[in-house]
Amino acid sequence: MGIDIEYFIEILEKEVKDYQVPVVDLIAVQTKDPFKVLVATILSARTKDEVTAEASRRLFARADSIQELAGLDEKELQKIIYPVGFYKNKAKYLAALSQKMAEDFSSKVPQTMDGLLSLPGVGRKTANLVLAQAFGIPAICVDTHVHRIMNIWGYVETKTPEQTEVVLRKKLAEKHWIPINSLLVAFGQGTCRPVGPHCDRCVLERECPKRNVTPRKQKKPNRMDGVKRLVSWNVNGLRAVFKKGFMESLAEMDPDVLGLQEIKAMAEQLPEILQNLPGYHSFFFSAVRKGYSGVATYSKEKPLSVIRGIGDSRFDDEGRVLTLEFNNFYFVNCYFPNSKNDLSRLGFKHEFNLLLQDFAEDLAARKSVVVCGDFNVAHKEIDLANPRQNRKNAGFTPEECAWMDRYTEAGWIDSFRLKNKGPQQYSWWSYRSRARDRNIGWRIDYHCVDGRSLDRIVDADIYQHIHGSDHCPVVLDFVC
Ligand code: SF4
Repeated sequence: MGIDIEYFIEILEKEVKDYQVPVVDLIAVQTKDPFKVLVATILSARTKDEVTAEASRRLFARADSIQELAGLDEKELQKIIYPVGFYKNKAKYLAALSQKMAEDFSSKVPQTMDGLLSLPGVGRKTANLVLAQAFGIPAICVDTHVHRIMNIWGYVETKTPEQTEVVLRKKLAEKHWIPINSLLVAFGQGTCRPVGPHCDRCVLERECPKRNVTPRKQKKPNRMDGVKRLVSWNVNGLRAVFKKGFMESLAEMDPDVLGLQEIKAMAEQLPEILQNLPGYHSFFFSAVRKGYSGVATYSKEKPLSVIRGIGDSRFDDEGRVLTLEFNNFYFVNCYFPNSKNDLSRLGFKHEFNLLLQDFAEDLAARKSVVVCGDFNVAHKEIDLANPRQNRKNAGFTPEECAWMDRYTEAGWIDSFRLKNKGPQQYSWWSYRSRARDRNIGWRIDYHCVDGRSLDRIVDADIYQHIHGSDHCPVVLDFVC
């Protein structure tokens, strides 16, 4: 049985009252100016609302009308609107827009779909939004959130936003056409998020069919005595992630041992609080080359010993492996080399892999070993969104996967896969094409445990909801 769409919309209208209003709606309400709605809509594509709001404010301070926009050249526009997504293209469109509107529409924003679609940089989504928000003309703008949520509800079964628009035009009562976009954008940004939707606190939790949804994991209960939470996270620059809520993420995860990769800094370049993290013992192994690679490990318990590197300067100069020894296990924090787009470092990476494996096996002869970090390889097809297209690409080449096969055949256990068999669970997403929003990702971060320590693996998880880097943290609860 399908959902009751009238009920869903009624509930959400009450729910989103306290949510942040999407930026284009805000500009429409505040200015009632079709020119500003059009320009803000163009800026907003593939850009966060906060960035769009700031760029719009700067641009409207310089150009309050189509005529004033015509006075700005492409280079100036680029500077004004940076860092919105695709700012160079958007600057080009904006420069051409005023000319086209002067020639064909007497410097006024056209009020028809065809007129809007004839403007540079304007597609159906933008045109629909301008018709709806600027002129109040019934039109359905289908943002990615509308398309996604309508499919989650099973109200449409479509592959593209364009198909969703067609179906909604047939099924959805016209009174909902204009507001549906704002409603679902606000709801999609606040609760029904693309990665890890908050079903746990959703007003529609009972009625929603949740098609193809992996709900956000509930915060785990306190650990049992004798279980340590080990977290690994490629932060893609420790100074950068620090400015993006690292301390809040740390408080939420509350790791006993935290292995960070790609810190891209010497210890002394870090803010004081990261050099000596409160409540933790802090260890660093940075690359010789400044701003490159490097690993750091923070531990609540003081380790018995610390081993920096694996005894080969080719890899140790790049700050790739940092090992802490505890009473009954070794924590090996690794940043595996990337084989590079042209695969020029495939051989280098393979040599690292073999040496790292020897190193970890030597340790495992003495006590349990957890090897964690960014392995820079998705092991099996289930571990990335587009396996076929990436078969020859860095991180999923047959050579890299073959090493991972040999590594696991030698007894090393991929703890996450041991505990989680499902697809679409990734730890890295490209910054391009809103890959994270669309969950087009790769699982390349692991906690691997030596075979004899299988029984010590309590649980393993990926914290996809934690942002700040292009990777998210991966977690292992381990009996210690
Ligand atoms: S229950 Fe979950 S999937 Fe359904 S609308 Fe709410 S957040 Fe989205």
